Amino acid sequence: MIITLPLLSYKLFMTIEQVVQKIKENDPQADTTVIVRAYNFAFKAHDGQIRKTGEPYIIHPLNTAFTLAQIKADIPTIAAGLLHDVPEDTATTFEEVKKTFGEEIAYLVEGVTKLSKIKYRGEERYRESLRKMFLAMAEDIRVILIKFADRLHNLRTLEGVEEKKRQRICQETLEIYAPIAGLLGVWSLKWQMEDICFKHLQPDEYKDLEYRYEVEQRTELNEYIELLKKMLSVELTKADIEHKIEGRFKHLYSIWQKMKNKHRKFDEIYDVFALRVIVPTVADCYNTLGIIHSLWRPNYNRFKDYIAVPKPNGYRSLHTTVFGPGGKATEFQIRTDEMHEEAQYGISAHVNYKNKLHDGYGKNQPMRWVQEILDAQKDSKNTDEFIQTVKLNVFRDRIFVYTPKGDVYDLPRGSTPIDLAYAVHTEIGNKSSSALVNGKISQIDSELTNGDVVEIIIEKGRKGPNHDWLKFVKTKKAKDRIKQYSRRFQLSSIKRIIPGLSDK
Ligand code: MN
Repeated sequence: MIITLPLLSYKLFMTIEQVVQKIKENDPQADTTVIVRAYNFAFKAHDGQIRKTGEPYIIHPLNTAFTLAQIKADIPTIAAGLLHDVPEDTATTFEEVKKTFGEEIAYLVEGVTKLSKIKYRGEERYRESLRKMFLAMAEDIRVILIKFADRLHNLRTLEGVEEKKRQRICQETLEIYAPIAGLLGVWSLKWQMEDICFKHLQPDEYKDLEYRYEVEQRTELNEYIELLKKMLSVELTKADIEHKIEGRFKHLYSIWQKMKNKHRKFDEIYDVFALRVIVPTVADCYNTLGIIHSLWRPNYNRFKDYIAVPKPNGYRSLHTTVFGPGGKATEFQIRTDEMHEEAQYGISAHVNYKNKLHDGYGKNQPMRWVQEILDAQKDSKNTDEFIQTVKLNVFRDRIFVYTPKGDVYDLPRGSTPIDLAYAVHTEIGNKSSSALVNGKISQIDSELTNGDVVEIIIEKGRKGPNHDWLKFVKTKKAKDRIKQYSRRFQLSSIKRIIPGLSDK
């Protein structure tokens, strides 16, 4: 049985039937029983809760799940999308989720809950560690996908949020979420997130650009694009190449960034649109390229063969810019259906594909994939600032823990509460007596794991660290501080015995 919602005019009204239908569109064989169960479970848990926009709460997880279905996430991910706010925001506990839905779904829900605890302060050091942590924390990349879908719906309903918080959410999205979406190749979500944030953060610029783009350019462009499509289609048909041609419009935020970064006016951004040709095989791609180049003179500086040399995130296509009718610079992107799918959904298409391939899910698999991206990116010349800072060892040997206030610390694997204490402040390290790890009292030598929330308990009257701590601490800072203290301590004892000994 499916619980139905009263049909009112909510802004983004969504039903479980729509989610199920989307899943079946992608995979008619998909078993959606667990999706409906998760929906009913979440419905009951959130019953009576209203969002700031005035909608019943369930609309939010439903939209999250729908976005996940759109990007072709797998069934457990979509189910977890429906359940993602249950443990945190309702009386239903995480244990109940686990008991009802099993390890895998519960693991994903827990991952999302953990990620939500991270607070963003708009400072450089946080930006960096948040990005790193985001990736490292998600031992399972599907957790990030859920977080993206969650964020997208929150952005779409920002109207109900007060100005200051809205700004913070948009800033965080542009600086943390969008770059990661790009890194993972989930372009469809990256663009949507960016345009919404742009609209909220720079409303005047956004409106201005929207007007120029929609009203001044689009009609003219449409005629031009139709003409090109017709010309190319005739030639492709002659060559017996099956094809689909789409006119692609760039999203406003990327146009605005180009104008800003390259100090160009709107009219000078010539690649505000591109034509995309989708053909059945790789051979067809190259044949199509030949046909385009025989129709219009190519600008060879702007030819890129991402099929022979895919981008580090796996993106494949042929890109070429030609001088079209009237000498207008026009970009073509040529790819197969499979490449097209990957280009839109990035890692999520990849994860799903791998799933089917191996029939079962290795938690570490997607992480390795991210590492491959990073490996490849390391050698590339256009390494962006983000990837430069996210070094490979970050993922292998580091853990990320946070304080109850949400501050993030990255520590070597095997670190203990004492390592964290010294990372926070030498005095806190020196006076540590025990720790609360995820709310439970723990030994100061217990090994921390990724995502732990750690509160250090200090003993005010304590003079200094215990020399034995050196046996288990992992960070250089903790070791140095403890040794330093012991030396000072020894020295002062010796001084007491041999007065007049200098500090040197
Ligand atoms: Mn949520």
